[in-house]
Amino acid sequence: MSNNLVTVAYIAASALFILSLGGLANQESARKGNVYGIAGMLLAFVATALSADVTQYGLLTAVIIPGAIIGAIVASRVAMTSMPELVAILHSFVGLAAVLVGIGNYLQVGHGLTGVEETIHQIEIYLGVFIGAVTFTGSIIAFGKLKAIISSKPLMLPARHLLNIAMLVGSVVLGVQFMGVESPDGLKPLLIMTGIAGVLGLHLVAGIGGADMPVVISMLNSYSGWAAAAAGFMLSNDLLIITGALVGSSGAILSYIMCRAMNRSFISVILGGFGEGAGKSSGQSATQVTGEATSIDVEGTVELLNEAKSVIIVPGYGMAVAQAQHGVSDITKILRSRGVNVRFGIHPVAGRLPGHMNVLLAEAKVPYDIVLEMDEINEDFPETDVVLVIGANDTVNPSAMEDPNSPIAGMPVLEVWKSGTVIVMKRSLASGYAGVDNPLFYKENSEMLFGDAKKNIDAILGRLREESSTEKVLATV
Ligand code: NDP
Repeated sequence: MSNNLVTVAYIAASALFILSLGGLANQESARKGNVYGIAGMLLAFVATALSADVTQYGLLTAVIIPGAIIGAIVASRVAMTSMPELVAILHSFVGLAAVLVGIGNYLQVGHGLTGVEETIHQIEIYLGVFIGAVTFTGSIIAFGKLKAIISSKPLMLPARHLLNIAMLVGSVVLGVQFMGVESPDGLKPLLIMTGIAGVLGLHLVAGIGGADMPVVISMLNSYSGWAAAAAGFMLSNDLLIITGALVGSSGAILSYIMCRAMNRSFISVILGGFGEGAGKSSGQSATQVTGEATSIDVEGTVELLNEAKSVIIVPGYGMAVAQAQHGVSDITKILRSRGVNVRFGIHPVAGRLPGHMNVLLAEAKVPYDIVLEMDEINEDFPETDVVLVIGANDTVNPSAMEDPNSPIAGMPVLEVWKSGTVIVMKRSLASGYAGVDNPLFYKENSEMLFGDAKKNIDAILGRLREESSTEKVLATV
């Protein structure tokens, strides 16, 4: 394929990626956005494979075919609940690729660059390897935390900020040494820096606590984009630069949105060592949550739903684990057919992935117009008769607003306790991902409906259906 044709294909692929991002910005067009992304990636892949730079087709086939098969199997088998771990580990691959491309590129002889061009090329390599190594180890730690192999508690080493600064300064000093010598003599400082950057990535993410993991995921997403862009510079591949920049900047915007949703500062996230909680810095411990929780059964829940004129459903990670979304969707249909105003309240960090709940509800065909963001619905709780909290915990925890010493103090939450009655569906009184006790369970207007969310939702649905068919029979008599 001629260079001109490759350039045209790259421009078309870039446009498709931009259309894809635009499409993914809202639920109605997300499917189309995905198709654009797939088409762009296919085009990019074929154009690169057919370009004059690629000659080793045997090697390319030997790596692409097993890679594609493994990727297809993993992606088709992954449960929605494990998606965040998959995303985290895939980010680590991008980081590792950037490291390997950088080192390989450095060792490549005869690239024909001199003077300023060579200096720029060396900076690209050094920065690319640095960002790649941070992304690689940081993503592995994020994977471990999300999979609960590693504790979600933040690692708070003494003088951790100093340690981070020392590692940064060390990397800069090694960078100066790297730049001062001819290839391949700079390999030693490059490899030492790779090790240091790896430890830095590990330490940064280990220092972030459970409740703040959404920010880490989007931040690593952004890092992986910049690592890919750096690899693009090293390989002089314009499309990789554009794609990396798109991922890097959209990840940065997502991190900013997540920070705002959690009322955290972006800078402290980047610096790591954050997530122990705003209140903890005051040296005081969180207020002990005590009280007696009252429980309700399926019959009682159905009775309350029958009397309600307005219902808000607040889904959380537990709904995803239980896969209760289809039953929830059917309950919504029945209640709406009876004239009940049913809406959904979605917290920006509900579940384990940005947009997790929206995806599940869309999959279960819940109409988009009744799925509202936290900011859109928070004021409506006082006028709501019944709130069904399905497997949500941290995102409805009043201590975020009521206890300044709580680890999640300051995080905006769905103010479900302001409604008439809150029914919390979960299996026990256990805390959520952030490990913070929840005083919601002990509020006067709260009722616990214990058990697996799917089992209880199906039982409620069964009762509502029975009632509906009885009503129909009575109407025909
Ligand atoms: P939480 O993780 O706070 O709580 C989920 C609750 O679901 C648990 O307390 C659990 O209680 C319950 N549960 C689990 N399985 C079932 C089941 N089968 N049936 C019924 N209930 C079940 O959920 P939220 O969605 O409210 O909050 C999300 C948390 O995850 C936040 O802390 C957020 O910061 C964090 N996070 C979010 C990410 C994102 O991007 N959205 C990424 C990473 C972390 P029990 O065991 O008693 O049943």
